[in-house]
Amino acid sequence: MLQVRQLVKHFGGLRAVDGVSFEVGPGQCVALIGPNGAGKSTTFACIAGQYPLTGGDIAWNGQALQGLSPQARLRLGVARTFQVAQVFEALTVLQNVQLAIQARLGQRAVSAFRRLDSQSREPALALLEQTGLQALAEQDALSLPYGAKKRLELALALAARPRLLLLDEPAAGLAGPERAELMQLVKRLAGQGMAVLYTEHNMDAVAGVADRVLVLIEGRLAAQGSFDEISRDAVVRSRYLGQAGGEAGSEGGGHA
Ligand code: ADP
Ligand code: MG
Repeated sequence: MLQVRQLVKHFGGLRAVDGVSFEVGPGQCVALIGPNGAGKSTTFACIAGQYPLTGGDIAWNGQALQGLSPQARLRLGVARTFQVAQVFEALTVLQNVQLAIQARLGQRAVSAFRRLDSQSREPALALLEQTGLQALAEQDALSLPYGAKKRLELALALAARPRLLLLDEPAAGLAGPERAELMQLVKRLAGQGMAVLYTEHNMDAVAGVADRVLVLIEGRLAAQGSFDEISRDAVVRSRYLGQAGGEAGSEGGGHA
């Protein structure tokens, strides 16, 4: 269980996250949504270990995470992806995943790279299948279409065998069926028992995916509940859904 209590993160005078508390249990798929600049990525970075906290605390299965490096958190089962996909562009898709598995197994990256082609091939192929990338296994990561790169980043996170998976806008930059498919994959991961927390700034990646939705506005949780509950929430409607037409709008409902 992830427990975030009174999380505060300031950048100089800017209160990016200003007293946020929530929990995510195993098997739950929770969405952290809100307009651009609300503090979603910052909240993530605090949980995954990229930023020291200004205040509050974060515990995973009862153990305090603040003060631990991202690598130490990864060893405890906490893995993340980034809003802009980060993969090893000089390697093939398969090699990327092989390398990530080798990293979990404690091989040093350089020696693993030399003997990579024979290593962890089967589990890597299984991860490619799980993320729908089998057909692209031998392609260079550099030349991947963006949607495939987002999937690859997810496969790399899964290679760590996380128990808590943090996904920062997993479907960012994707549209239509590709977007819907990726979100269903995210939902399935929670169905397998992982605790999943993902950010989004569009409502359409929430309906039918998230078990619970946290709405972050200007660094504070404005509401939390089911998709239906937060869609009806007066504050959420006026301060988030009501604004800026398309981006945050729930009208027109979910994706196909
Ligand atoms: P979101 O992911 O919800 O769009 P962010 O967490 O990226 O929002 O940003 C929240 C606020 O914090 C924004 O005003 C952003 O400009 C600011 N911010 C984010 N990262 C940094 C940083 N490293 N240094 C200074 N300000 C930052
Ligand atoms: Mg962000």
